[in-house]
Amino acid sequence: EQDVAEYRKSLAIRVSGFDVPRPIKAFEDSGFSVQLMNAIKKQGYEKPTSIQCQALPIVLSGRDVIGIAKTGSGKTAAFVLPMIVHIMDQPEIEKEGPIGVICAPTRELAHQIFLEAKKFSKSHGIRVFAVYGGMSKLEQFKELKAGCEIVVATPGRLIDMIKMKALTMLRATYLVLDEADRMFDLGFEPQIRSIVGQIRPDRQTLLFSATMPRKVEKLAREILTDPVRVTVGEVGM
Ligand code: ADP
Ligand code: MG
Repeated sequence: EQDVAEYRKSLAIRVSGFDVPRPIKAFEDSGFSVQLMNAIKKQGYEKPTSIQCQALPIVLSGRDVIGIAKTGSGKTAAFVLPMIVHIMDQPEIEKEGPIGVICAPTRELAHQIFLEAKKFSKSHGIRVFAVYGGMSKLEQFKELKAGCEIVVATPGRLIDMIKMKALTMLRATYLVLDEADRMFDLGFEPQIRSIVGQIRPDRQTLLFSATMPRKVEKLAREILTDPVRVTVGEVGM
């Protein structure tokens, strides 16, 4: 335990919550499939970043996580890699709609996450779809109807698509709110609450943010279950 505390300290990691899994040292410690390890190597990722070392084992254990780390720290892979594992673990069932849902504040951010998710999904036959403004709604509707396992979306457009019945949230069990602080700054709180309200309560929920203002903290307390909080470095409010 002393070793774990020192290792966390060396990574500038602080954790809170009960029964927190210990941080990993290498991607190999995660029990990823050969296929996923190959995709990681293909990306040139040699070892996990600080947030990945601690967040990966927690997310893989099925716990809800609040991850706070500055931009550029590798938060995307911390939620995308376990999402691939989560999806591959699902039994083949005759249900439609995405299993993994990722919300991001802007088109650009959603697109970046979409690209990262695609890199790791491709070899698994997992379909990723991006849902944000800029494409005609009818076009998007048609493409969504074809089905996918992962949706990366901005909140407003996702709600539009749900209303149009382009997709349902019936199969969704893994929800990520990325850059939560910026989603609040942009006034997306009502949309986020609406989306969360449509996803089954026994889902796994992950919230990532560069900062943790009060209102984001409050939302996290309301929509996450027994979360583990992982903070890397010094973080502002
Ligand atoms: P954040 O979301 O925290 O701002 P990103 O997930 O966008 O950070 O990652 C920042 C950059 O670091 C990206 O270019 C990503 O490909 C790269 N990256 C992520 N994890 C690793 C890793 N383990 N090793 C090397 N590069 C990584
Ligand atoms: Mg990010």
